[in-house]
This record gives sequence, C-alpha cells and structure tokens, in this order.
Amino acid sequence: KTNDFSVALRAHDLLQKFYHHFLVNTKEGKDALLYLEKRGFTDKEIERFQIGYAPNSSDLATRFFEKRGFNLYELVKSGLLSRRESDGKFYDRFRNRIMFPIWDHQGRTIGFGGRSLSDEEPKYLNSPDTKLFNKGKILYGLHLAKPAIRKKEQVVLFEGYIDVISAWRAGVENGVATLGTSLTEEQARIIRRNAETVVICYDSDHAGINAAYRAQSILTNVGCTVRIAKMPEGYDPDEYILAFGHESFQKNVIDQSMTLMAFKMDYLRKGKNLKNEGELIAYIEEVLKEISMLPGAIERDHYLRQLSEEFSISLDALKSEQYQIYRKLR
Ligand code: ATP
Ligand code: MN
Ligand code: MN
Ligand code: MN
Repeated sequence: KTNDFSVALRAHDLLQKFYHHFLVNTKEGKDALLYLEKRGFTDKEIERFQIGYAPNSSDLATRFFEKRGFNLYELVKSGLLSRRESDGKFYDRFRNRIMFPIWDHQGRTIGFGGRSLSDEEPKYLNSPDTKLFNKGKILYGLHLAKPAIRKKEQVVLFEGYIDVISAWRAGVENGVATLGTSLTEEQARIIRRNAETVVICYDSDHAGINAAYRAQSILTNVGCTVRIAKMPEGYDPDEYILAFGHESFQKNVIDQSMTLMAFKMDYLRKGKNLKNEGELIAYIEEVLKEISMLPGAIERDHYLRQLSEEFSISLDALKSEQYQIYRKLR
C-alpha cells in the first residue's frame, strides 16, 4: 500500500512538471499562456502555483508514463489516465486544459483541476476522489498560505483556486479554497487549527451566498469567528480584482468584511417584502432569534438598537421579545 502511494505521488509530481513545461516552454502552450495573460496572471503566479497546460492530445501523458515503465492500470486508479471499455485502450484524462496542481497540506501534488480554454463543458475537470485525493479533506493552497495565515491569524476562504491565485496577486496571501464541493466539517476543523478568524469570500451570486450561509454555520460550530466578504452582486473575487484593483480588494472586500450578524440580517431579509407588516414581523422574529444566540450582552444590545432604529420599534419591546425567545431556546 505505501508503495502504491509512492508510485501515485511520483506520477503526480512528474505530470505536474510535464504540464508546467508545456505551458511555459512550448509552442503548444502559447494559447494557454495567452489565455492566462488575458486573465491577468503573470509569471509569478504561474511559478508559485505551478500552473500547467495539458496539450490537445489523447495520449501524450499516456506515452510519457508508458515510456517510464509505469503501470497504466494504477494510473487510471490514480485518476491521471482513462481507459476505454470497448477496446481497453488507455488515454489521457486531461486534454487541452489549463492545469492547476492540487496539493496535500505538505505540498505534495495529489490531484489536478483542469480548466477548459474555451467555454467548452465541463468548464472544470477535477481529478476524481482516489485513495490519495479526497476533496472533502483538502483545502487548496493551504501549505502555501500557512505562513500568512499564522501571521494574520486569519484564513480567507474562497470557492475556486482561480480566486486564491488572483487574491495572492492582489496581496491577500492567506487564501485557501474548497474544490468544487461545499465545505466539510473536516475542512472547517483544519481551518480552525490554523487560525480562529475566517473571512468567507465566496462568489456574490445566489449559489455563493447560500453556500456562504451553510459554511458559516459549519465554521461557527467548530469554534471559528466568521466574517463575510461583500462584493457587488454578480462578481466573484477574481472578477472583482480585475475590475476594481488590488488595493480595493484588500481594503473594501477583505478589511471591510461584514460581521456574521450583519450577514445574517442581510440574508434573512432576502425575498421578504419588509413593507408588509406580517413579513416584517416574521423577519424581526428571525433576527431576534439570531441575536438571542449571541454570547455577549454588548453585542446583543448593539443589534437590538440597530433594529429599533431601522424599523422604529421601541427598544423595550424588542428587548422583552428577545428575552422571551431566549427563554424558549434554552
Ligand atoms: P473561472 O473564473 O475560470 O470561470 P471560477 O473559479 O470562477 O472559474 P466557478 O464556476 O465559480 O469557477 O466554480 C468555482 C469552483 O467550483 C472551481 O474552482 C471548481 O473547483 C469548481 N467547479 C466549477 N465548475 C465545475 C465543474 N463543472 N466540475 C467540477 N468542479 C467545478
Ligand atoms: Mn517553472
Ligand atoms: Mn467563480
Ligand atoms: Mn471566476
């Protein structure tokens, strides 16, 4: 078994270098390099994140491994190659894609994410889960971000590796990402082991906001202090950085991230018409429930006053209602 692992690790390491070489040094990689340049990536990011290119060939990686005496069946199990049922032929899993190596937390390559150059589907093809690679246990970029995470005592959590890389270019070096699945409890624990504070910086679309809502609850449960980054609707971090610049991302998105309570208040009012009395009362009840769960009296007081001012409800009424809810929750 240990031997299986070491073969798979060696294969990943070799293939990462192979793909990187194709991107950086060959004619076949030119279009991919241009694509990355157009998206604002420089040599620095390409080097640090060891970005590569899988040429448009069905058997380049296959021949590469064959020549080196690898057992191709093992490489299918490792998710690097595929095998056709009909004739038993081996072929490359990744073709004509920008390749992002995915590392374990020690920095060993254990998988890949491949982005298509055109808008051909699927946009992203990730390695399948294997004995070596389990998407729910890995945070993309953790080993690279660790020094910055320790220094800032904060993790910034993104949806995609592109966002981690763009954020790094923008000077936000403590970013990690999940790999196309929603955050697991195990990933949350890993985050908590590295820092107490997390800024969730997911795409500012419907799916991203809902995912952020789920992620905050998982992170809170493992003891993290959560903040939520806010961007104009429709932007993801990478797009924000391209549109508004590095400095704005740091200052207006990360540093000005919302407290969890502010995010929840925003979230709970979505789809509600607060001019309708019934909906307003339902909203206030939901917010009071959230306020009841805050541990600090000063914090509770702050949000009660905010509610009182915004909706012209007496503070006394809100306080007594909140106390009722608090007693029911216990
Ligand atoms: P880009 O800017 O290149 O379009 P993105 O990071 O904005 O990329 P999203 O569509 O926001 O892409 O997806 C975020 C993450 O979800 C990706 O990094 C990838 O890990 C995962 N993902 C997206 N689409 C797919 C897919 N079709 N299959 C597997 N994973 C996917
Ligand atoms: Mn290089
Ligand atoms: Mn996105
Ligand atoms: Mn994007």
